[in-house]
Amino acid sequence: MAGNLLLTSPLETCSFIRPKELAAMQAAGMAAVRDLLFMLPRRYEDRRMFDRYDSLSSGAPVCLRGRVVDVGWKGWGGKGGKGRGRYVEAVLEDEQSLGNARFSCLWFSMPGIARMLCAGQEMIVYGRMKPYGKKLSMVHPDFELIREGEDNSIHLNRIVPVYSGRMGIPVRRLREIVWEALEQLSPEPEPEIYEFVPGVPCKTALRDLHFPGSAEARDKARRRFALEECLAQQLNVAYRRRRAEAVPGMQTASSSLLVRDLAASLPFELTEAQKRCVREIYRDMKARRSMNRLLQGDVGSGKTLVALCAMLLAVEHGYSAVMMAPTQILAEQHYLKFRQMLDKLDVPVSLVTAERKEESHISFGGQGGIVVGTHALLYGKNVPERLGLVVIDEQHKFGVNQREKLIAREERPDVLVMTATPIPRTLTLTFYGDLDVSILDGVPGGRGKVVTAIRTAKDREKVVKFVRDQLEEGRQIYVVSPLIDGEESRKGKAVTKELDEWKALLPHVDVGLLHGRMPAEEKEAVMKDFRNNRTSVLVSTTVVEVGVDVPNATVMIINNAENFGLSQLHQLRGRIGRGAHKSYCILMTEAQPGDEQWEKLHIVETTSNGFDLAEQDLKLRGPGDVLGTSQSGLKGVRFEEWLLDARLIHRGRELAEAILTEDPDLKSAKYRPLRFLLESGEMKRVAN
Ligand code: ADP
Ligand code: MG
Repeated sequence: MAGNLLLTSPLETCSFIRPKELAAMQAAGMAAVRDLLFMLPRRYEDRRMFDRYDSLSSGAPVCLRGRVVDVGWKGWGGKGGKGRGRYVEAVLEDEQSLGNARFSCLWFSMPGIARMLCAGQEMIVYGRMKPYGKKLSMVHPDFELIREGEDNSIHLNRIVPVYSGRMGIPVRRLREIVWEALEQLSPEPEPEIYEFVPGVPCKTALRDLHFPGSAEARDKARRRFALEECLAQQLNVAYRRRRAEAVPGMQTASSSLLVRDLAASLPFELTEAQKRCVREIYRDMKARRSMNRLLQGDVGSGKTLVALCAMLLAVEHGYSAVMMAPTQILAEQHYLKFRQMLDKLDVPVSLVTAERKEESHISFGGQGGIVVGTHALLYGKNVPERLGLVVIDEQHKFGVNQREKLIAREERPDVLVMTATPIPRTLTLTFYGDLDVSILDGVPGGRGKVVTAIRTAKDREKVVKFVRDQLEEGRQIYVVSPLIDGEESRKGKAVTKELDEWKALLPHVDVGLLHGRMPAEEKEAVMKDFRNNRTSVLVSTTVVEVGVDVPNATVMIINNAENFGLSQLHQLRGRIGRGAHKSYCILMTEAQPGDEQWEKLHIVETTSNGFDLAEQDLKLRGPGDVLGTSQSGLKGVRFEEWLLDARLIHRGRELAEAILTEDPDLKSAKYRPLRFLLESGEMKRVAN
């Protein structure tokens, strides 16, 4: 009895949703049937076949059906159920188990539960069996009461969805609402779009998403919708790529004498990988089309030098080049280094940060030059004329919009974005599908080894002694603490407190302090002192996380290391091991061996390669979490599995390419419905 509900139908039109429920759904941001049907179950229960109570608990969650034989208040404390430490206990009998096994469910601080339960009632409980006192019990299980004669309802004898009850609508009611919506859904709930995704028809897939006949059917349904999301994303990537290619590009390089001069003046040779990357960039810049290239390389692989070579190519051809870095400290560092290397080549370099506005209008006259800066480059007249090349350092710290803002001008400059691989290889295709990729593999030779070790509070003295030894040998030390000041929270120690401690521990050593809230000039001065080895220890927040390069620093102590993500720890560790000396990354933690957090740190301890670490991070936290904050484009992703599935991404890409090849602007009647994938807010979110 299919109805005519569409995915786009407003929830108001669903007569089976009660006014109060509607209000709750709308408050949770749901507007249309689509939002309801893409509310994914948190998990499923197979209610055709319950687990059986067994006194040898494995610790895994189980789903049991039982009858309440007794319910009441238990525990110590005052009479009348009000005292502390009292709880509600329901004794259930699992009638399916041999010998009518009994077990308890416990609820603390939830007096309402006692009123809901009574002896004789049947219920379904889901949770882990754990020893409580002498018995195995379930504490705060998910549960549902079974009503009389319900055996063939939507709640029993099938695989049922369990939603997270965040909206305040009981799970059972949500299940009924979703069921009803599926019943009344038109057989072609949104034919225009779904037509382009082969496989299970949309309506069937939606049903299988909520009430699957089998786990396989559910997976197939998920895969189908994953492909759909992937198609939308790849369609955008391919569209962007085509658009960028269509813009008449400029030739921004013709000869490489400056690069040769620079190379000759360096105390080291460019690595093979660096030379290859420069060649790839040179080829793009010589061509009369715009370059859109990603330079991907682990921390410390020497990306800055490759970028500098690219900028010199542009300068030699009479263009100027701009490099944007995410922090003032980093912009400043690049600026100083470039000055040092370029002054003898007679190439002008300027710095633009929010604090340095005095150079209100940058001009290099007819000849080219280089500008290094922060976000400040995006505003005012901070960008020079005849802009031929834009380099974005640590591009994952910027949004796509910021990148575009710098690039969008009458004559589109060539673009080089750089990243220290916060994402694994499989994802490069997904998110940088519109860019050509140069990979800077390996790190330059002549570097000391980096050793990583986990240490706890009881090792503190040994750590301090080790620091003293390293200082004695002339090396420098970073100490990173998560917080700036104020009260110490459970999250970690404040840098200011840490500073006082180190000053007391090392009275004859110069210790510097750096954090994001310091005035720019002060930051500048502190970094300068550390760079020139006037301070030996730098106590800092994570402002040193990206890009900072002081080769004489050999020790990185990270306090409360368990609070950082794997990739962030790797970035911090990337600050050392940049010189010839052996380096040491010390992860201080309150975690204990065997803890989840200890295991996480152990991964960092045993994995030195950034790519591998990124893969592990994904496995540990899932793509949503790993990519969530930096890749704003992922907010709309519901079916995370596709992010890791190279085959699916490939399929999505093929579909997208085929569609755009046939109709590049999606103008034909057939493809017009897809246009909204490129333009609508929702899909833009999906597509970066
Ligand atoms: P990242 O890729 O993390 O941005 P950097 O560009 O900061 O790395 O380079 C790290 C360090 O390696 C710098 O001190 C840089 O001078 C040095 N370096 C770069 N290329 C080479 C090379 N070919 N040989 C030796 N050292 C190099
Ligand atoms: Mg860098």
